[in-house]
Amino acid sequence: MSLKERYLEIEERIQKACIRSGRKREEVILLAASKTQPVEKILEAYECGIRYFGENRVQEGMEKIDMLKDYKDIHWHLIGGLQTNKAKYAVKYFEMIHSVDRQELVDELEKRASKLGKVQEGLIEVNFGEESKFGVREENLKTLFEYTLTKKHLKIVGLMAIPPYFENPEDVRPFFRKLRLLKEDLEKSFNVKLPHLSMGMSHDFEVAIEEGATIVRIGTALFGERR
Ligand SMILES: *Cc1c(COP(=O)(O)O)cnc(C)c1O
Repeated sequence: MSLKERYLEIEERIQKACIRSGRKREEVILLAASKTQPVEKILEAYECGIRYFGENRVQEGMEKIDMLKDYKDIHWHLIGGLQTNKAKYAVKYFEMIHSVDRQELVDELEKRASKLGKVQEGLIEVNFGEESKFGVREENLKTLFEYTLTKKHLKIVGLMAIPPYFENPEDVRPFFRKLRLLKEDLEKSFNVKLPHLSMGMSHDFEVAIEEGATIVRIGTALFGERR
């Protein structure tokens, strides 16, 4: 199957999941997880109409963003864990950072965004288990979120998670639901609006959409198996 054919199939599945859950297609962003993909593949996806791309590593992302700098309507997101010493570059290059997960990183993002005169958008990554070494534990989420409210140049716009992998995507549903409830709890507790839930990957994006995802991060289903 070509990338275009895979794209059309994903698009149809997204639309069906939206219909099933009474949501509008425009509420869900298809973000192509483009780690390890060369710029040629990114451009193929761009030709299909995709405008959101997620990179995992700052260095790899910077190189591609520089090569594709003429494509000004691409939205570049950092979806992988972020080391504090790379925050400077992440702020310079990425529109949204999905992996805000500790005070030290919040401080550094604030400092770097302030220097650039930018308000950096970010998502707090929640860690539901030992699957990922990144992410804040559920019990520390409120404290971290409250801390970010003191920062003028970092704006948290939602939550992200990489739940454990299950053969049956239905088994992931409770984790997606949990992330939505955590978001709603923050909104109530702090009287704020958090528009985004970044959840769902190739294997389980339909369930994620049914549970309220606004950004699905899709790699393999779009680009094929990574080499
Ligand atoms: C690679 C990656 C994805 C996409 O994974 P697929 O299973 O290939 O769709 C999504 N999110 C993050 C953080 C990733 O690293």
